[in-house]
Amino acid sequence: MSLAKKMVANICFCSLLVFCDLSEAAWFSRDGAVMGTTVHIEIWVEDEVVAHQLIDMAFTELHRIDSLLSPYKPQSELSRLNKKAASGEIQVSPELFELLKRSHEFSVETAGAFDITFASVGHAYNYREQQKPTEAQIWPLLSAVNFRHIHLNHNGAGVTFSHPDTRVDLGGIAKGYAVERVARLLAQRGVRSAQVTAGGDTRFIGNRQGAPWSVGIRDPRNKQAVVAVLPLVDEAMSTSGDYERYFIKEGERYHHIIDPGSGHSIKGIRSVTIIGPEATATDALSTSVFVLGVEKGLALVNKRQGFEVVIVDSKGELFFSNGLAKQDK
Ligand code: AMP
Ligand code: MG
Repeated sequence: MSLAKKMVANICFCSLLVFCDLSEAAWFSRDGAVMGTTVHIEIWVEDEVVAHQLIDMAFTELHRIDSLLSPYKPQSELSRLNKKAASGEIQVSPELFELLKRSHEFSVETAGAFDITFASVGHAYNYREQQKPTEAQIWPLLSAVNFRHIHLNHNGAGVTFSHPDTRVDLGGIAKGYAVERVARLLAQRGVRSAQVTAGGDTRFIGNRQGAPWSVGIRDPRNKQAVVAVLPLVDEAMSTSGDYERYFIKEGERYHHIIDPGSGHSIKGIRSVTIIGPEATATDALSTSVFVLGVEKGLALVNKRQGFEVVIVDSKGELFFSNGLAKQDK
């Protein structure tokens, strides 16, 4: 069955279930701004008071993670690490250590395309002020970009940087981690249907009243249009796009996904959407595939059980991983 036919069938099924549902349950949602992005939380719960308590808990958790991992908050644990780890071993929380460990695993899997030390040069870009570093500024910083400069001491969660200019930024994995955490907390408290979105990263719990969540992938060059619609149940979805944080100068687009080899914004791709069972992984993989490019990116995802990808390249052409390409036949 084609994806479009499946969607029509799902819509009919959904209407039927809404009609038959005699419980008092309803959708409750809230939008907010956390982690430098827009957050949307939507849950299906029977009691309104409980719904508000759950959504409050979700936002509290997101703010907690932000105050731990933000590279822009001077008091965050990540900022402390960036200030001190080049001078000697720093003890970090098990949570930050675990994320550094997972980031390292993605760096190894992607042969360094995913590299949180990109920040050593990446922080020289200021997208709000439309400022980019010159080649003369980039060059001396490039040697600090290498995930192997981060040394993780597994006895006691110690971290050391072996290059004086190495800095890390978890922007390519933190929002996925955050929505995964919040979704798990909601599920532990009995929520069976929910959507937790932070920027381009979403974790869905269950389905939408018997039908899959119907999720559009936006056209990277037209906010109002979608290039594909996917039916998702109990899955995570992350999109990395060159339209999220960028500016255009002298005809060139400078955006936030950085090639660790050159210190420049990646060319060749407009967006990458990953679907998979867990949002920390879909987030890291969306950034990774963006850096790897179409061919290597497709190969990486096709090797991973349970993950799919939709890529929009710089000409607007669409590419699908094997699982999605088969579904539409
Ligand atoms: P995403 O939000 O998943 O699209 O990832 C983009 C974010 O990942 C950027 O805003 C940076 O914080 C971070 N980032 C940029 N380039 C890289 C890279 N090569 N490896 C890991 N993280 C990166
Ligand atoms: Mg990502």
